[in-house]
Parts: sequence; structure tokens; C-alpha cells
Amino acid sequence: MDAHAIRFMEHALTLARKGAGLASPNPMVGCILVREGQIVGEGFHQYELRDHAEIVALKSAGEKARGATMYVTLEPCNHTGRTGPCTGAIIAAGVQRVVAAMEDPNPINSGAGFDRLRAAGIEVFTGIGEEEARLLNEPFTCWIRTKKPFVTLKSALTLDGQLALARELHKSRQRARRQKRTTWISSEESRAEVHRMRHAADALLTGIGTIKADDPLLTDRSGQPRRRQLLRVVLDSQLSLSLKSRLLRTADDDLLIFTSEAPNSRKARALEKAGAEIVSLRSRGGRASLEAVLAELGRREILSLLLEAGPTLNGAALGAGIVHKLMLFYAPKISGQSRVSFAVAPDLRLAPLQRIRTQPFGPDIAVEAYLQDVFR
Ligand SMILES: [Zn+2]
Repeated sequence: MDAHAIRFMEHALTLARKGAGLASPNPMVGCILVREGQIVGEGFHQYELRDHAEIVALKSAGEKARGATMYVTLEPCNHTGRTGPCTGAIIAAGVQRVVAAMEDPNPINSGAGFDRLRAAGIEVFTGIGEEEARLLNEPFTCWIRTKKPFVTLKSALTLDGQLALARELHKSRQRARRQKRTTWISSEESRAEVHRMRHAADALLTGIGTIKADDPLLTDRSGQPRRRQLLRVVLDSQLSLSLKSRLLRTADDDLLIFTSEAPNSRKARALEKAGAEIVSLRSRGGRASLEAVLAELGRREILSLLLEAGPTLNGAALGAGIVHKLMLFYAPKISGQSRVSFAVAPDLRLAPLQRIRTQPFGPDIAVEAYLQDVFR
């Protein structure tokens, strides 16, 4: 494959990225059709519009699809789900060649689309732009293979690994409440990236400790369109979430609380009346099992989960081995404290971090690293 093929696949990947917030629980897919070096059709998948990216591209190309080369970021499907198989439509349209970035990550379907296309006499090439395509569909791959969401642990830290600055700890409660939103650890550029991450995620998970300390909103303020609201999930074993918290005051069918309290307690009913949904899980040592939480979120078609929590939940999640990826924003600040460390997990045994990447966001440095590979 030549440089043109790489350039065309990059275009298809750019289209696929437009599916952030719009494709889930389906994969993000982009597709273009090229004839005589010209793009004659293109599209990306949006769940609400049903048509897969290939069909959107074929419809936009019309008759020009005949003899064209299709560049698509994922193996075309060969099964009937909410739509007919894309392979049939590609064959019927007279596409001559298909270049796909990656195989279908669902082991049940993997390779079947390519086989069908080849059997119909279409040339098939794979692997161009594979790394990028896989990156886009880590959440889908994780969910389709395990029925649980892909978990990214995000944190903003001082250089000495603290989640809070010293002066925040010393503030009186009332003053802290009044000034809450003005003392951020990370830069504006980092916070914009966090909102981009929230936009790409289906749900956000935090612990009651973080709500009590920061009273955060935990909403997606990227301004980008999304088909489902970002589901805000709180682990609150004792149901001690305040009815006056900003989280509850902004609840709009997007707040889920996991607890080990009985679902019909007075507090549970009050929280439900205020707009939260309560899920009671049998507890282990008073806390909901993280595996059970993930299973329930997976059942609700949550593909990607952003963990934005404090030391206790960060430590528990790392200890339980549920974190796939870390995204840590280090701000050039020193706390001088050791009370709000990144994660409390005294017996933590982690395999070496993989695929480490650093990136500047304003004055901050973000460290991205993997703990698990969903494609293995
Ligand atoms: Zn399809």
C-alpha cells in the first residue's frame, strides 16, 4: 500500500472520530470511497441514524461507488443486527477493493466480513492505520469481549503526587465552599482535555469522599453533541450523599448511586425523589464490589468509564485490577503534604506500565500509560 492509502485511511479515521459521543454502544467507524484518486463518498456511524459508516458512504457516492476503493476503519459487518450486513451492500454496489484498518474485535464475527468480500471477488487489504483504529475502539473492544466497560483512571496531581494543595486542606469549611471552584491543581488546558475525555466516555465514576471534599458537578462541558448524557456514578455505601450537593441538584436521569444500604430506606427514597437512581449491591466489607459495579454498568451498555476519584477509590480500583489505562496530569506545584495522596493501596502489586506517553497541556505534563491491553 502506498502513501495515498495511508492518507485516505487517515481521512476515514478523522471521520470515525466524529462518532465520539454519538456511536456508543456501537463502535466508532469512518469510511470513504475513492475512485480515480478522488473521494466520491464518505460517512461515519451514528447510533441514532442506524446506518453503518459503509452504508452512509455508499449512499453518498451513489453510482460512483462502482469500481471504487473503500477505506474503512473497521472490518465491515457480515451479520444482521439493527441493520442488514454491510458486506452485502458493498458487493451489490460494485466496490472493487476494500482497505480496512482493523478486524472486528468481536471474536464471533472476526474475519467473517473479509471472507465474504473475498468470496465475492473483492480485493481486501487490512492493517493500514490499525493502531489508530484500535485506539478509537478500545472501549467497544473491551465491552464486546468482557461485557464490562473500559476503565480510564484520570487524576490531576501536584508534582509530589497529591490530589489537593495544602491551603485547600486548611481552609475553613465555609470559606472552602465559597472558594471551591477557584483553586484548581491543573491548568485550563488540562481541564479542557478532561472535558474531551468526559465527552468520549459513557460514564464517570467517583466515590462519596470526593463529593464531600469537592462538591463537583462531574458533567461533560465539552460543548460537543452526545446521544446519551454522561452517566454520573457514585459509590456511596452508607447513602450519605447530601441532598444539597451540586451533583444531586443537577440530577437529570444521569445520576446512579451504588450502595450497600437497603433500596427502600428513607434516605434512598429521598435521593430517588431528588432524581438519583439507587442500586443496592451486596457489600464486601461495607463497600460495593467494583466487579459488580462494572458488570451492572456493562449491562447498561456503558462501554467506557472514566474514574475520577480520591485516594481510597483510586487505590481500590488499582488493587482490584479493573483499571485499563492511566491518564495523570501533573501540575508544576508542590503540596508539601502527604494526606491526599493519589492512591492508597499498601499491598499494591502492578505489572510494569505499558505504552507510556507524555504530553504537555499548558504548564502541565500528562502521563498516559496502560495497565491492560484489551486486544490481547
Ligand atoms: Zn455494518
